[in-house]
Amino acid sequence: SSDVLGEFGTTIFEVMSKLAIDHEAINLGQGFPDEDGPADILAKAAEAVKDGPNQYPPMMGLPELRVAVAEHDFRFYGISGNWQTDTLVTSGATEAIAASLFGLINPGDEVVLFEPLYDCYLPLVKLAGGIPKYVRLDPPHWELDEDRLNAAFSEKTKLVLLNSPMNPTGKVFTVEELEKIAALVLKYDAYAICDEVYEHIVFGDKKHVSLLTFPEMGERTARIASAGKTFSLTGWKVGYVTAAAPMIARIAKAHQFLVFTTPPNLQKGVAYGLKQDDRFFEDLKYSMQSKRDLFRDGLQGIGFSTAQCDGTYFLNADINSIGFDGTDEEFCRLITTEAGVAAVPVSAFYQSEGAMTNFARFCFCKKPEVLEAAIEKLGRFF
Ligand code: PMP
Ligand code: GLN
Repeated sequence: SSDVLGEFGTTIFEVMSKLAIDHEAINLGQGFPDEDGPADILAKAAEAVKDGPNQYPPMMGLPELRVAVAEHDFRFYGISGNWQTDTLVTSGATEAIAASLFGLINPGDEVVLFEPLYDCYLPLVKLAGGIPKYVRLDPPHWELDEDRLNAAFSEKTKLVLLNSPMNPTGKVFTVEELEKIAALVLKYDAYAICDEVYEHIVFGDKKHVSLLTFPEMGERTARIASAGKTFSLTGWKVGYVTAAAPMIARIAKAHQFLVFTTPPNLQKGVAYGLKQDDRFFEDLKYSMQSKRDLFRDGLQGIGFSTAQCDGTYFLNADINSIGFDGTDEEFCRLITTEAGVAAVPVSAFYQSEGAMTNFARFCFCKKPEVLEAAIEKLGRFF
C-alpha cells in the first residue's frame, strides 16, 4: 500500500519503557546507560551553551568535530580521508541512516537487510522507496549463512545496510563474513551503509573491523557512528558519517533537508570527546564486558540459556530454557509487570515470516547493583 507508515506502530522501545515506568520495573528494555559519560565532555558542551556557539553551525558540521572524526577514524582503522569532503555530522546515527538511504537509493531499488534488524531500518528503507531483501540470522550463534546471503542479492540490489556490532543480537561480524558481503556488494555494484554505533563496545578477543577498509570498498561504503554509544550520552543525538566524497555529497544533500544541522554546543563536546586517549576506549570496553559477564552469569544461574554476545549493550535469553512456553512478547510483559524487570521481545526485530519468538533482549549497560537487583527479582519469580 502507499500508506508506508500505516503498517508500523509505536516503537517497541517506547512501549516497553512506558510499561516499565508504569510498573516501576527495572528497565533493561530500551538500550541506554544509567551513568552519563565523562564529566569533562559534559563541561565542554556546557561551556559552549554558556558562551556559544548557539546559532546554526555549518550544514556539514563544525570543522573541529569533522577533523576529530577523521582523526578518530585514522587512529582506530587507518582510514585516511579528507575531513572537508569525507565527513558529515548528523543528528544521531538515526538521521545518518535516513540521510544515507534518501541520498543513495531511488524508489524500486533493492536493499539488503540482516534480520533481526534494528527498528528504524525497515520504515526508513520503505519511506525511501526501497524494497527490503532479508538475510536471516538465527540464535544462539547468529552465523551468516552464505546461501541466504547470496539469495538476497540481485541485479536490482542498490545498497546493503549492515549493523556490526549488531543490535539486538550482540553479534560482531567476522572478517570472513565481511569479505563475503564485500564480494557481493562489488559484484552487484552496490553501496554499503555500515551502522557502527557500537564500534567501541566489543568483547574478549573479538575485534570490530569496518567494511570501509576492505579492498575496493572505500569508494562505496559509508561508516556511521554516534556519540550516544561511544560517550554514554544517548540523548545527545550527535552522529557522524565517513565516506568517499561523492557519497558524502549525496548523503549531505538529504541531510540538509532533513535537519540541516545539529546543535553546535553538543558538537563541541563531542569534538573534545573524540580526542580521549586510548585508555578511555579500553575502559569503555572492559566496563561493558564486566557488566555483560555479571548479567550473563546471573541469568544462567537462574537457569536461562543465553545467546552468544560479543558486543553492544544487549544479551538475549532463551525463554523456553526455563520452561516458559508463551511468546517472547508475553514473557516481556509478564516479567515487567510481575517480576519488576523489563526486557524487549526479539521477535520485534524480525519482519519476515516465521520469526523466532523465544528470545528476550536484556540491556546490561547498567550499574552492577542494578543488574544484581534485576537478577534477584527474576530469580525470585522463576
Ligand atoms: N543504530 C543502532 C544499531 C542502535 O542501536 C541505535 C540506538 N541507539 C541507533 C542506531 C541510534 O543511534 P542515535 O541515537 O545516535 O540516533
Ligand atoms: N537503540 C536503543 C535500543 O535498541 C534504543 C533507541 C530508541 O529508543 N530509539 O534499545
